[in-house]
Amino acid sequence: MANARSKPPRPPVSLKAATPFWRGRSLEDFTPVEWESLCDGCGRCCLLKLEDEDSGEIHYTDIGCTLLDAGTCRCRDYAKRQARVPDCVRLTPEAVRTLPWLPPTCGYRLVRDGHDLPWWHPLVSGTRRTVHEAGISVRGRVSGTEEEFETEELPDRIVAWPGQDPESRDPASRDPEDRDPEGRDP
Ligand code: SF4
Ligand code: SF4
Repeated sequence: MANARSKPPRPPVSLKAATPFWRGRSLEDFTPVEWESLCDGCGRCCLLKLEDEDSGEIHYTDIGCTLLDAGTCRCRDYAKRQARVPDCVRLTPEAVRTLPWLPPTCGYRLVRDGHDLPWWHPLVSGTRRTVHEAGISVRGRVSGTEEEFETEELPDRIVAWPGQDPESRDPASRDPEDRDPEGRDP
């Protein structure tokens, strides 16, 4: 009979320390650093949107804000964004609760609605690359910036994908363009 060795007693691990910081928290409870890290860097919210004045429905276009870098999917001047783009919306807890157009994949919206962050979120995967690989970011799908289009051209640029979560669709029906073929990291 093999010798059974007794293991030394192990102290309990703190439940709080073992729980990701975004779970079970109110939007107001995050530190500024934690708050910023909830953004997955997808760039969807930086696409131009059109509002139907009759129905109130909001449509995304594939046209980027003047400061959106369509390669990294980041703002080119995040620190001064509101001085340079006055209608850029600062995402506060109140804004996240009331804005009707945050995409379903947005980290703030997921936490607001009590959902966990998905596998591709940089806080879970440890890399921004997965946001592109999972077809969440705007990389490769932006037609240009707002200066490049006339107002009357905007309705023709309406697209559905920014309002969709590719993870919730049947993988067999996924658009191949949902994935970043080059797997580049910003
Ligand atoms: S949609 Fe949400 S997660 Fe994506 S860039 Fe905007 S704030 Fe960040
Ligand atoms: S100013 Fe920057 S953060 Fe604001 S919408 Fe434009 S690209 Fe996005």
